[in-house]
Amino acid sequence: MQNLIEIKGVTHAYRTKNGPLPVLDRLDLCVPKGEFCAVVGPSGCGKSTLTRLIAGLMKPDQGEVWLHGEQITSPRKTVGMAFQNPVLLEWRSILENVILPLEIVAPKMPRAEREARAHHLLAMVGLDGFEHKRPSELSGGMRQRASLCRAIVHKPDVLIMDEPFGALDNFTREDLWQTMRELRAAEPFTCVLITHDLRESVFLGDQVVVLSGRPAKAQFVLNVDLPADRTIDVLYEPKASEMLHILRDQIRIAQGREAH
Ligand code: ADP
Repeated sequence: MQNLIEIKGVTHAYRTKNGPLPVLDRLDLCVPKGEFCAVVGPSGCGKSTLTRLIAGLMKPDQGEVWLHGEQITSPRKTVGMAFQNPVLLEWRSILENVILPLEIVAPKMPRAEREARAHHLLAMVGLDGFEHKRPSELSGGMRQRASLCRAIVHKPDVLIMDEPFGALDNFTREDLWQTMRELRAAEPFTCVLITHDLRESVFLGDQVVVLSGRPAKAQFVLNVDLPADRTIDVLYEPKASEMLHILRDQIRIAQGREAH
């Protein structure tokens, strides 16, 4: 399968007042087109740094980041991003928030077409009827659904998500995982997800990459061999339990502790 994202030998250190802080060390990572790559690792190991590099928001000291066969050295319109905080604009309705990337990326697209695209996505995530509300009138889970629509409205090649479900309660989070899988089934996009939640990584991922402690390398890659049309119940099956067990051990190793 063709790789959409290729990270080759990326090494990076931040310059701090106490000297260089090495964060990534010759990190290699490939994500085939259409795949969902979940990245887990100890806190502070460099996961968000990795997303900034893929998004072209910063350049590595050494190594290369390739997207769609092009080396990334600056931000791209073909990358969508979603964060823990949905950062929706309060002075715009939910519909207008979702349309925003199209105004920037496709200014010539007729308004009716932009609205139709936004309505379609909002209906898919269960927000039909809420298009004209302001963000503050919605629950946290609904705001995150709207922010996911905004992140993919312009059909980016890759969606980068940095702990997008981290601030939600368990039930809302699991609902959103299911929504995420439905969205991907309808609009296959390549995805990189940073998460602390191993269940989330297994439920959403096609592959789970465990980063080592700082400076991070790709320590372990798990291929998630579960049915594509999985529901949350799959996490209670022995195969998923075994994967979670392996990942938990890998995280302990990454943290410099003994595996069980
Ligand atoms: P993670 O997402 O895995 O928690 P980050 O990529 O956010 O890790 O950060 C890795 C390390 O780099 C952390 O110790 C963090 O404090 C540090 N760091 C992140 N951004 C900067 C920066 N702009 N300048 C200096 N240090 C930074």
